[in-house]
Amino acid sequence: MIGAMARAIGVDIGGTRTRVAAVEGERIVARRAFPTRGIDEVREAIGEVLAAAGWARPATIGVGAPAPMDMREGRILGCPNLPHWNGVEVTKELQRAFACPVYLANDATCAAIGELAFGHRRRDFVYLTWSTGIGGGIVSGGRVVWGATGQAGEIGHIVLRPDGPPCGCGKKGCLEALAGGASLARRGSEALGEALSAREVVERAQRGDPHAHALVADACRALGQGIAILWEILEPELIVLGGGLTGSWGFLGPQVLASVGTMARGSPEIELTRLGDDAGLLGAVALPDYVPPQWGPR
Ligand SMILES: [Zn+2]
Repeated sequence: MIGAMARAIGVDIGGTRTRVAAVEGERIVARRAFPTRGIDEVREAIGEVLAAAGWARPATIGVGAPAPMDMREGRILGCPNLPHWNGVEVTKELQRAFACPVYLANDATCAAIGELAFGHRRRDFVYLTWSTGIGGGIVSGGRVVWGATGQAGEIGHIVLRPDGPPCGCGKKGCLEALAGGASLARRGSEALGEALSAREVVERAQRGDPHAHALVADACRALGQGIAILWEILEPELIVLGGGLTGSWGFLGPQVLASVGTMARGSPEIELTRLGDDAGLLGAVALPDYVPPQWGPR
């Protein structure tokens, strides 16, 4: 399994920051992080980590992105959060630049692969990102669940309240619209009459502001509902949570767990990722071992 990962590059395109790393075996030997822009900046950063690692060229490149994508073409499709990436043929561009096979996948699927290859290594689990948006990746029987076109695990867009707040995807009442960081920031700013980040809304709730508290409680209840749905469908051994909002788990966790407790019949094991911000990046590195052949480099 580790063979294909010898001298591999991983790229994790985030909504706000992009991370690039050179990994040899299981060790990160060079890395860069910078505000997300377009493919030129990624190409440049790959060049830099290659130079820092002292490699002439990588064996493989894996890229994770928080966007819908055409897996066959290795192309990112329209995504409001990543304006510089709309329509970009990621695998073709990077293959041309670095003369090696390039793989592309959804960022939350990458994070699940990161957990599978480098993290807790369980065989039946779901990875959930709780940050600006909410994403998921599913591993069942040690295999990644990709779905027919590679978009499986879009847990953030399960509709929990059809008449709920609007979601970036165009629907209403998605889990992401109820509990995602962007939604928490927007709803919190409206309720409190000033521009606040999700983290600030959580801090206000923690200090006892009743409006912030109601919003955060609602978000935690929705996330717990989402987790309960996953649990009933998949019965995972473990649910792994990552993403910026889990930084406040001491305050948010008990509320989420209470919600899961009222909505799931069993008691799912829930854990925070041990890979920190690197789950998606490491999963991108490991993509060559997991992407089905029909979507691999041609
Ligand atoms: Zn949605």
